[in-house]
Amino acid sequence: MVARFVEDEPLGTAGAIRFAAAGRVDGPFLALNGDVLGDADFGALVRAHAAAGATASIGLTPVDDAALLDEWVPRATLVLDCSDNFATRHAVNRACVALKKPLVSGAGIRFDGQVAVFDARLADSPCYECLFPEQAEPEEVRCAVMGVFAPLTGIIGCMQAAEAIKCLTGIGLSLAGRLLLFDALRTEWRSIRVPRDPQCSVCAAAA
Ligand SMILES: [Zn+2]
Repeated sequence: MVARFVEDEPLGTAGAIRFAAAGRVDGPFLALNGDVLGDADFGALVRAHAAAGATASIGLTPVDDAALLDEWVPRATLVLDCSDNFATRHAVNRACVALKKPLVSGAGIRFDGQVAVFDARLADSPCYECLFPEQAEPEEVRCAVMGVFAPLTGIIGCMQAAEAIKCLTGIGLSLAGRLLLFDALRTEWRSIRVPRDPQCSVCAAAA
């Protein structure tokens, strides 16, 4: 079973389409605005996004129901985070670390995208908190405000789908422990090693 976390933004839609097209969807999808979407509802979601076009309600969905994570993450094999704000990412990360669920994270803003895999099942894998400590409180830059190069969402969503499928099927070399950065203006990918923080308030405490 695969739980898919979608917050109304194109990144989630792009990743979901690729994931579904690869035939790996065999469980419910979950939108963090409280709508739980089964397989039959997925087509409706995609059509709704398509109908909304470029003016889809990006980033307007508040994530205020942690109970959804408590309910669905335990039932997930893998979680994809396509949200667009730090609060959601940290909440999803905490749930995944606590339950040792692999997390495939993706983000895009303007012309810059990033993909990372945090696999709490691996002893040396960092978590999202190791990489972006919540206490550091970096300035929130949401794509709804700053805009995003439209193809970037599809590119990052596809990369998330690829990592998810690899993780689920156990093929290839996981991205866990690395942060993949994409510069769409230069068309350059960079891979940065991300060590686990032994003092991490999330994964060190859970180990
Ligand atoms: Zn950590």
